[in-house]
Amino acid sequence: MTAVSSEMRAVQVPDLRDFTLPELTEWMTGLGEPPYRAGQIFRWLWRRQVGEFREMTDLPMTCRQVLEAHARVSTVAVVAIQSSQDGTHKLLLELPDGERIEAVLIPEARRLTACISSQVGCALGCRFCLTATMGLHRNLRPAEIAGQLVALGKTLGSGNHITHIVLMGMGEPLANYTATEKALRILIAREGLAFSPRRITVSTVGLVPGIRGLARSGLGVSLAVSLTATTDELRDRLVPINRRYPLRELLQACRDFPLPPRRRMTFEYVLMAGINDGSEDAHRLVKLLKGIRCKVNLIPLNEAPEIPFRRPSRQQVEAFQKILERAGTIATIRESRGEDISAACGMLATAERPLDSVCSVP
Ligand code: SAH
Repeated sequence: MTAVSSEMRAVQVPDLRDFTLPELTEWMTGLGEPPYRAGQIFRWLWRRQVGEFREMTDLPMTCRQVLEAHARVSTVAVVAIQSSQDGTHKLLLELPDGERIEAVLIPEARRLTACISSQVGCALGCRFCLTATMGLHRNLRPAEIAGQLVALGKTLGSGNHITHIVLMGMGEPLANYTATEKALRILIAREGLAFSPRRITVSTVGLVPGIRGLARSGLGVSLAVSLTATTDELRDRLVPINRRYPLRELLQACRDFPLPPRRRMTFEYVLMAGINDGSEDAHRLVKLLKGIRCKVNLIPLNEAPEIPFRRPSRQQVEAFQKILERAGTIATIRESRGEDISAACGMLATAERPLDSVCSVP
């Protein structure tokens, strides 16, 4: 097939990895196939992670031919892996149209967390985030969000498997709501990747309609909100979308978010020297979060030449944490991982970044 005709085909026929199981079932029935075929195909795509119809050996030949003619299966390709001294791996991934995103694997004592992206770039322009400097190239499709798990999984040695997923890579998941929700359904589906929803965390800058949508979806995934400021005046400056969804509205949506028993939602708070790290900020934060079952994750700013802020001293970070804890608010300091390879929070950006120290994947 020539490049042009394969591109046309890509536009015309659906990518089966974009479908949730109910959607695939409906689509297969439309082709005159029995509904249970959808379950078989879904298992091939996500559990056995096979993308070639000819390898789906329990499907009748005629069914495989129908699929060849009417569908495609996309994959997310690993282009390069950079490994940090602390065991974190940053993966450069390529999408079918050549756009590139990043994902991070973070090993801890008894867990292996995959940090995945939801958009190529981001439109929200938070002043302290490097991804923001890329602008938004495009949204990811469900196949590309969930497909990152397949790509990451294939780089792991036997015996290792991903235990937790955080949507904390590039992009704002709730600005790409429909695709994100579908991808979550694929990740959770028993016939799919079968992740417990509690082990999946969606992190948002605070898009209120998205938080309410996620609440209504009943998916039961964990929520993290990147708060980072305690007054609208400051938050308007650091996180421009605050002008649309100010603190009062945002925190009300958080209060209304359904939490399973004994679970807490997370508030991320990026600490910047002289900007939001004072004792008055800490006291205001305690007040704002009163009545919300939550914990605060303090993230000392990761610095970059493009970012006009500085990281506070360790002493300042710990003093901030102490004030929260004395007031009964659980607060942890996120130890920065993968800093030496720019894999840390807010550092993911693929535009024109040199890959000199990268070991390429054969
Ligand atoms: N858009 C979503 C998902 C991205 S998560 C969100 O904002 O939550 C990325 C996390 O890294 C967010 O908590 C963000 O506040 C944080 N972050 C962004 N820039 C950072 C930086 N320079 N240093 C430390 N954390 C940063």
